[in-house]
Amino acid sequence: MRILLVEDDTMIGESLREALRAQGLAADWVRDGRAADAALASERFDAVLLDLGLPQRSGLDVLRALRARGNATPVIVVTARDALADKVAGLDAGADDYLLKPFELDELLARLRAVVRRQAGRATSALVVADLRLDAATREVSRGGRPVLLSAREFALLEALMERPGAILSRAQLEDRLYGWGEELESNAISVYVHQLRKKLGDDVLHTLRGVGYYVGPAKER
Ligand code: CA
Repeated sequence: MRILLVEDDTMIGESLREALRAQGLAADWVRDGRAADAALASERFDAVLLDLGLPQRSGLDVLRALRARGNATPVIVVTARDALADKVAGLDAGADDYLLKPFELDELLARLRAVVRRQAGRATSALVVADLRLDAATREVSRGGRPVLLSAREFALLEALMERPGAILSRAQLEDRLYGWGEELESNAISVYVHQLRKKLGDDVLHTLRGVGYYVGPAKER
């Protein structure tokens, strides 16, 4: 999952970005409304965590402009403003959810999963492809009922592929999902994770199309 974090408070921004990355999420952080506009206009995110009180341009203006462009990326407004009028304005401007500071990280993560799940039209947090099962809420993976332990990155890569079984994701698309801006990335990182996943899951569920990308599900005829 790739998250855009819009937050002008350095302490909150830094700690939140690190916390999200520790969960295996790709988290990019911008500190003002114009930078948020630019990031949202040029990149695709799975969800946005949006502060309202921002330099340059308010979070509410960023949100209105995003929706006016027809961009339906899930947005959770995260702010200390607890006035009812601010909540209503945020939701009416197109926010999908609302979280008041200070908040618990677990609640933020659960709300993130919920908005992304709703966006994808899924009723539960579990992804199932044949006998392979991944639960984003409990972070458990199993194959044929047997639990499989994955690292945060392996989990994130498998999740990205299992969201759309059979769809081929290129190495660049997977890198976008797994890494935020400025994160160190070895050029062969994705193939290393794919190799590790095959060792743990068996070699018949995660497939490579040479020069194209990766997918999960039944092997495609070539
Ligand atoms: Ca702020």
